[in-house]
Amino acid sequence: MEYIRTMGARKQHRKQFLQRHPLCCFCGGETPSMETDHIPARVLFDQRQWPEGYEFPACKPCNRISRHDEQVVAMLSRLYPEADNADKKKEFSERVRAVAHNNPGLLEEMRVSTDQAQDTLKKYNIQTPEGLALSDLPFLSVKGPLVSSAVANFGRKLFMALYYKHTNKILPREGGIAIRWYSNLQVENGEIPGELAPLASGFPNLERSNMDLSEQFFYRFGVTDNLKAAVFLAFFRQSFSILGYVNAKAVDIQLTENATILQPYQHKT
Ligand SMILES: [Zn+2]
Repeated sequence: MEYIRTMGARKQHRKQFLQRHPLCCFCGGETPSMETDHIPARVLFDQRQWPEGYEFPACKPCNRISRHDEQVVAMLSRLYPEADNADKKKEFSERVRAVAHNNPGLLEEMRVSTDQAQDTLKKYNIQTPEGLALSDLPFLSVKGPLVSSAVANFGRKLFMALYYKHTNKILPREGGIAIRWYSNLQVENGEIPGELAPLASGFPNLERSNMDLSEQFFYRFGVTDNLKAAVFLAFFRQSFSILGYVNAKAVDIQLTENATILQPYQHKT
């Protein structure tokens, strides 16, 4: 005998992971897990180096349901600060190309008209840089329906994953996720509710092989003692942040202005 085929370290790791986490954490806790889902997706991170410990059990449909939305968020999160080396520039153009290919109309939706640029300057009290035409101002619109739905679906999964991680509980079918998101302009303008700070006082350790990843992705969190509710505030580079409120009973969520309530996925069988 010479060699014997083994499962390989990666496959073995996955098998053990799925044994420890036998149910998908995204569709109410009734479906067996088949795959590991990286949340946030690897595509959001430089060189695909995602934080250790952020793997989640998923069924196949749940694993696939956010792929195109993750590409949108991966692109948005790289808008600020601007890529400062060749690798990052390449990753950014790859993300833009993927979005153009998989999300038709989305890039067009983000274009800002002269009127919108003028409104933005006024709203945030920004001086027009001298000699710069309004059409050259560095703003993009993120309020269109395509961008909004991509971020909402991304947030839906992100907050179910973080809820699972920090409570060891799968959000049940009747659970809900309320999402609101803020662009960097809104964050700078203090539009994130101040009362959140004391609630979301937990800070996770986000690293891979001792490399700190918090400049790319970072969040604060808080969980109630009975583990029924949690709040998360996630930052994606310096581009935007998403606020998520998770409750094991969607009907208990008091809807704040402009928030969307989503629920665990339900796949047709
Ligand atoms: Zn599922």
